[in-house]
Amino acid sequence: MASVTLSGIEKSFANTQVIRGVDIAIGDGEFAVFVGPSGCGKSTLLRMLAGLDAPDAGQIRIGDKVVNGLPPKERGVSMVFQTYALYPHMTVQDNMGFGLMIAGTPPGTIASKVAGAAKMLGLDKMLDRLPRQLSGGQRQRVAMGRAMVRDPQVFLFDEPLSNLDAKLRVQMRTEIRALHQRLKTTSVYVTHDQIEAMTMADRIIVLRDGKVEQIGTPAELYDRPCNSFVATFIGSPA
Ligand code: ADP
Ligand code: MG
Repeated sequence: MASVTLSGIEKSFANTQVIRGVDIAIGDGEFAVFVGPSGCGKSTLLRMLAGLDAPDAGQIRIGDKVVNGLPPKERGVSMVFQTYALYPHMTVQDNMGFGLMIAGTPPGTIASKVAGAAKMLGLDKMLDRLPRQLSGGQRQRVAMGRAMVRDPQVFLFDEPLSNLDAKLRVQMRTEIRALHQRLKTTSVYVTHDQIEAMTMADRIIVLRDGKVEQIGTPAELYDRPCNSFVATFIGSPA
């Protein structure tokens, strides 16, 4: 695991500034949740942490390393997306191991890492199946497994549960938190769902129009919102 620090981050697309001076410090092993309305910049911040986008200004640190300019695979992060984007013609085993394979990892190492992740995710009896032979929840677990086999220091989640039905969403919240605890990683989790944020986070970062409105534990935000935006956003479930 590793701490994650964003300092003075700014980002524009075309001539529109979408991230307007963001400072966030996430502790080693923390489960931090970025929450805010659609379009406030959550995914953009996560993509910059992952190295899929570069900030126009500011510094990103992971652990004791400044990672601005480092390519995604040298940052020690793995991202789980909203759309699982599994390869339809590949088995669970191959979907989970594909990233390691193209990185040149020896087949024996891939097999043991995939087996370990599959066991932890309850997928060990399904390694030969194709994605279409899995339920939505199982597919989401494969997507998590694909991120896990790379032994990241930091997990990045971009609305990973929004394609699942309500009941499964609740169950997966618990599973993701348990996995975070068990793997002892740092997690940065993005959602527009207040309940998800309140139930999963060690600390919540409330974003609005590319800026941080407030950072605090779920209880702090609920009991002492810093303004009416936070009060309304945290207080009224969607
Ligand atoms: P969120 O994830 O909170 O819904 P995003 O980070 O995806 O928000 O987007 C923040 C803003 O930046 C939005 O107004 C979005 O339209 C804009 N945006 C995001 N990515 C791009 C891009 N590649 N090109 C142009 N505008 C973008
Ligand atoms: Mg988004």
